[in-house]
Amino acid sequence: MQRRKFLASDALGSAALLSPRRAAAADAAAGAKSPGSPALRCDAWLAARAVRVALLSLSLAVCGVAQEAAAPAAAKELPGFWRTRLDQIETTVRSVKKGTVSVLAESPGRRNVYLVAYGAAEDRKGTANYNSATGGRSPFAYARKDGTQKPVVFLLGPVHGQEVEGIAGLINLIEIAETGRDLRGREWAELAANLVRCRVLIVPCGSPDARARCPYDSWVGLDLAENARIGMGTRPDGSNHAWPSVKQIHPMRGPQVATLGAYWNDSQVNLMHDEWFDPMAPETQSFFRLARDEAPDYIVSLHSHAVAPDLMQTAYVPWTVKETLKTLGDRLYQRYAAAGLPHRPSGSVPKEDGKTFPPPSFNLVSALHHACGAVAFVHETPCGVRTPPYPKVNHEQLLDIQLLLYDELLRYAVAHPVNWRPDQPPPAR
Ligand SMILES: [Zn+2]
Repeated sequence: MQRRKFLASDALGSAALLSPRRAAAADAAAGAKSPGSPALRCDAWLAARAVRVALLSLSLAVCGVAQEAAAPAAAKELPGFWRTRLDQIETTVRSVKKGTVSVLAESPGRRNVYLVAYGAAEDRKGTANYNSATGGRSPFAYARKDGTQKPVVFLLGPVHGQEVEGIAGLINLIEIAETGRDLRGREWAELAANLVRCRVLIVPCGSPDARARCPYDSWVGLDLAENARIGMGTRPDGSNHAWPSVKQIHPMRGPQVATLGAYWNDSQVNLMHDEWFDPMAPETQSFFRLARDEAPDYIVSLHSHAVAPDLMQTAYVPWTVKETLKTLGDRLYQRYAAAGLPHRPSGSVPKEDGKTFPPPSFNLVSALHHACGAVAFVHETPCGVRTPPYPKVNHEQLLDIQLLLYDELLRYAVAHPVNWRPDQPPPAR
């Protein structure tokens, strides 16, 4: 896979996609840091992209299209480390120096889905796709993992637009990868060291269309009903659609949809429930292409609700994966407990799927596992609403919940390198 550093021409093109106010701020921020290389600006791919983006920008200006919802008053005073907006992602990716930045996909709303990668990619020398390799009784035929490779961890930022907390976590993780400290200035020595020991694939926002439809940058102190209105959208009678029955309409179109919530991309697709064998969304296609190419050992899909942090079990994956998820949950909740954060008593216990009706969903993380064999799972974080009985958490705590997840996951990945040759001990290092 060819990888590119993020160049000045990208920065200009991306800034053109923002509202004029945000584009001006982004340009000002980028002015001092742009890592553009004149020698590389001749690249035909970049030139073509810049022209395309400029034309799009012009068309948006002519049409007067407001592509991002205005921030409500309640979201104005937020800590400086709390960065969840699309323009803040643009600024962040432009500042990356130690990693590589690429555009993984373009959304139906013509927004970039960014990938920030740290650590060199290794050639896994596969001779088969994953499911054929397992059919041949050897995942090793897909990716030659013998316990000596760098762990590969794929952190997929929120695919649901109102679930902004994961974006804040991943922007701070990028800062740690670059400087060793989060945006509060707090040092994360072990996490920074483990970032160097792994290949880490960070998609700060899995669905920029969805994020653009959410006018809030934080839910701390707000009502859960407002979160539901923005996230799930409304019915013609003015009531909110509700989870999980909202999933009974997909794609989210038709007479029951008065306002489209932030759960969906601009083609009304919920990326957690795409059509896996014929994906509707370009974002979905790009996630699977990345998973197949990189053979991640771990994939985390970051989500938020009002509940205590939850490292969830994944349906329809091998028992060994479910056991690993239980272990990871146990370890993570111990970290949360030690930090005085909301937590569950123990990791989610593995169970057999479909013993009762209705069966669980074969969702995005189930499907991603079957593309590459990864331990793939959903992490839910609280969002800080004031509505009882949910845990009340502030921005500091929300960020710690995110960063402790990455810290514990990378610690585990480094300590337990994947070996798909259990019959053969790994060669001496
Ligand atoms: Zn979600």
